[in-house]
Order: sequence, then structure tokens, then C-alpha cells
Amino acid sequence: MATTTVMHKQLFINGGWRDAAAGNTIEVVNPATEEVIATVPSAEQADVDLAVAAARAALDGPWSKLSARDRGRIVWKIGEKLMERADEIARLETLHNGKPIFESRQIEVPAAAECFQYYAGWADKIHGETIPVKGNYLTYTLREPVGVVAAIVPWNFPLLLTAWKVAPALACGNTVIVKPASQTPLTALALADIAQEAGLPPGVLNVVTGPGAGVGRMIVEHAGIDKIAFTGDTSTGRQIMRGSADTLKRITLELGGKSPNIVFPDADLDAAIRGATMGIFYGKGEVCAAGSRLLVDRSIQAEFVDKVAARARKMAPGDPMDPKTRLGAISSKKQLENDLRYIEIAGREGAALVAGGGRADIGTGKGYFLQPTVFAHVTPEMTIAREEIFGPVLAAIEFADVDEAIARANATSYGLAAAVWTKDIKKAHYVARKLQAGTVWINTYNVYDTAAPFGGYKQSGFGREMGLHALEHYTQVKSVFVDLNP
Ligand code: NDP
Repeated sequence: MATTTVMHKQLFINGGWRDAAAGNTIEVVNPATEEVIATVPSAEQADVDLAVAAARAALDGPWSKLSARDRGRIVWKIGEKLMERADEIARLETLHNGKPIFESRQIEVPAAAECFQYYAGWADKIHGETIPVKGNYLTYTLREPVGVVAAIVPWNFPLLLTAWKVAPALACGNTVIVKPASQTPLTALALADIAQEAGLPPGVLNVVTGPGAGVGRMIVEHAGIDKIAFTGDTSTGRQIMRGSADTLKRITLELGGKSPNIVFPDADLDAAIRGATMGIFYGKGEVCAAGSRLLVDRSIQAEFVDKVAARARKMAPGDPMDPKTRLGAISSKKQLENDLRYIEIAGREGAALVAGGGRADIGTGKGYFLQPTVFAHVTPEMTIAREEIFGPVLAAIEFADVDEAIARANATSYGLAAAVWTKDIKKAHYVARKLQAGTVWINTYNVYDTAAPFGGYKQSGFGREMGLHALEHYTQVKSVFVDLNP
């Protein structure tokens, strides 16, 4: 693994780069090598105030004078430039997150670029309606931007989850402040550079780095911010709800999950085995919609889980920078310790470890690598069946029939995603309707599309990202009455 020189990054505010007011910084670590790869500013109140002032001023600046079509052209160009610089951006994403370069280059950067281009197309198609009302009035609605939007982003898909928020916000004419996760701030900063190159006026997009408990909280409480779009932990979501109450901000929360992946005996079992494996190990399981609960019919569960475990044992983690690697490094020491703690609890509570269960060494003696882990004979009461682990740890649980499969799938406070594997079309749609989840996959897993809304039921949050539905969260509606009485 090549050693990297330490990069020094700055805040991006009002179209310019600057250090934090007091000059404090945070170190960014490559989880595959444990080396410090960058320092970024640790912003404070004065920096947040500057970013908010810039974003507010930009709402009335050249940005607001652009036609919706020209605004869309700039948003489109951001996507174009992301692809022109895809190799560089993908490398940064892998360096700070530990995910395989294959995922960053072939999946995440193209998906982020596509998100900008999808919303670019919406920019000049967001419009109001004329409404027949009683009396002699012409009544119409305008759909206007919400104002200053803050995007608070986690570390698992740092670029993509930034794009899911920034692209619709810009397409609707808002201005934005991004607060990336402290572990993974590099691609949000690169995006700011790209947006400037694409012609975004100063102040329209600002990136402020710093700890969630400090900068994040200041953003949440700031009277100059109109909306928060957040992805992250459910407990942080609760804090954001409380913190934004005094200023009555609009909020959308995309939170944790404990998604069930249900396999019936009449499924294409080879496809279901691949789906179960990919559902939990893609993205190292650091995926909010990860299929972390594998619900298998009792009649096939022993053989099915054996086959999933056999695949898991073959999936050794590797150097994330190697294009052949499909399983990278856990994103941080803290997250690795979190995963190992859950593995220990599962063993203590009586689950049967059938694959993995410990740290992995890719030959360097460094890095936060974990063996893909599978537990069989998990019961719904066990901790690993209830709590989000957010790592490559699968809990296999059996069920007796369709009703029990549905009951067990829904026996969680979360409701982000779910999947069902069966060749019986009636059963598939029946179960899909009964599942309490924002996304249901039938005979597949982890399929996302910029045009399809994504978000949670229950404590997985509210509001939808992507698709037409996201536009509702970035616009507000004004009714206009015109007196036509003679
Ligand atoms: P957080 O929810 O704490 O972090 C997400 C983002 O919120 C980061 O930018 C973080 O900043 C910021 N933040 C943290 N606290 C606050 C606050 N009080 N006000 C405003 N912003 C805040 O997740 P963690 O990184 O702590 O991960 C913990 C667990 O969360 C994981 O183990 C996993 O279970 C879950 N998670 C779920 C995700 C999902 O996609 N649903 C994504 C990430 C984590 P900073 O990085 O500076 O702390």
C-alpha cells in the first residue's frame, strides 16, 4: 500500500477557501492503513455564521436571477465534471472511507453524477398550478425554494449522500451548507471545487467541516438556516429534531435500519444466496439498508445458511486501492470496535458463529479489517437481531410460515428496507404490502435509482430522498389570488 502525503484542506465559504477562525483542525485517517492522510478545519460558530451569511446573501444574488433552465444547466455540469474527475474523486472516497476502489469508481461516483443530472432535468419542470376557487379570482400556486438548506452527511457514502441532498436542493433554487462527517470530509470539499468550476455562483454551495457535536449542533440551532437534510444514526436524528424545534426548521431524516431479507423455499435459491450475501456484505455492511436480518424458512434454513456462510468465508477483505478488491476496510477504529462488540454479544447470547467473527489481516498488519461474519440460530430477542450493527455481520433467523415471516420482519423499530425471495407472484406482492419499510425488493437486493424515492418508515426517519418526492422537501408552495371582479 502506498503511503500518502498529508493533504491540508480548507473550508469552502462564499466561493473561497479559508481556515477555521481559530485555526483548529481535525485529522482524517485512512482506515486501511491507519495513517493520517489529511487535516481539515474544525470550524466554529464564527465560521458557521459566515457560511450562513454567504448562503443567505446568495439567495438574492445572481443565483436567484438565473432562469430555471440555466440553473439546471449548471447542476447538469456538476454531474459532467464529477465524471471528468471520477478517478481522482473515487480515490479520495476510498482513501477516507476504506471502501474498495471498484465501488467508489464504478458505483458511487457515477451514481452521484447521475443524481446531479437527474435533478438538473427537473429544474425547469417544477411549477405550480391554477386552481378553480369560489368567487371571481384567478388563483395559482408558485413553488419557491425553501431557502438555506443544511446537508448533514454521514461517512458511509460520503459523496453519494451529499449528492442526494445537494442536487435536488440546487435544482429547486436553494443555497446549501454541507457538513460532512468528520471521518470523511474530502469528497464534499472536492465537490465544492467542482461546483465552482461548473459555474455555481459564490455562496450557493458552502462546505463547513468540524465535529457534529459542535458544528453540527450550531447548524441545527442556527436561525439563518431553513431546512436540515440529515442521514445518520437514529439517536442523532432525535437530537436534530429537538435542536431544530426552537427555529421550526423543516427536517428530513434518513436514519438507521435492521432490514429483513426474507427467503421462502420456493425462491430461486442460488439467486437468493447471492442476494443474501451481497445484501449484507456490499459496502462492508455499512449501508443503512443492509439486509442484516436473514429470515429463512425453517425447512431450508440449515442448508441455505451453510451456503451463505461458505460464500462469506471466501470473501476475504483486501487492499481497498486494489481494483480486484470487493470487501474493504471498516471505516474507523471506533466502528471496528463496535462490530467486534456485537460479535462478542452474539456469542454470549447463544447465536452460532458459522463464518468470520474476528479481525482480518490483509498482509500489512495494519488497517481496520473484519472477516465477513455470519451467525445462525439467531432468535428475534437477541441483541444482533434488534440493534443496527452497521458492519458485515449477518443474523440468520428462521420462520415457520408466511405470517410468521411478516411478523418477524416487522418486529423492529426500524423500517428502511426489506426484501422477499419467492417465485410465487401473489405471495411476493402480498408480503411486499405487509412489510413496514420504505423500500421493498422482490427477488433482488440493494437496487437504488435516482428516480425512485428512498426513505424510512417508523424510526428509520421521514421524508424521501431521490425521485420526484424529494422535490417536495426543497420547495414551498405559495397561493396567489388575483381579483378579477369587474
Ligand atoms: P452520526 O449520526 O453521529 O453522524 C452522522 C453525521 O451527523 C455526521 O456528519 C456527524 O458529524 C453529524 N452529527 C453528529 N452529532 C450531531 C449533532 N448532535 N448535531 C448535528 N450533527 C451531528 O453517526 P456516527 O458517525 O456516530 O455513527 C454511529 C452509528 O450511526 C453507526 O454505527 C451506525 O449504526 C449509524 N449510522 C447510520 C447511517 C445511515 O446511513 N443510516 C450512517 C452513519 C452511521 P461528525 O462526523 O463530526 O460526528
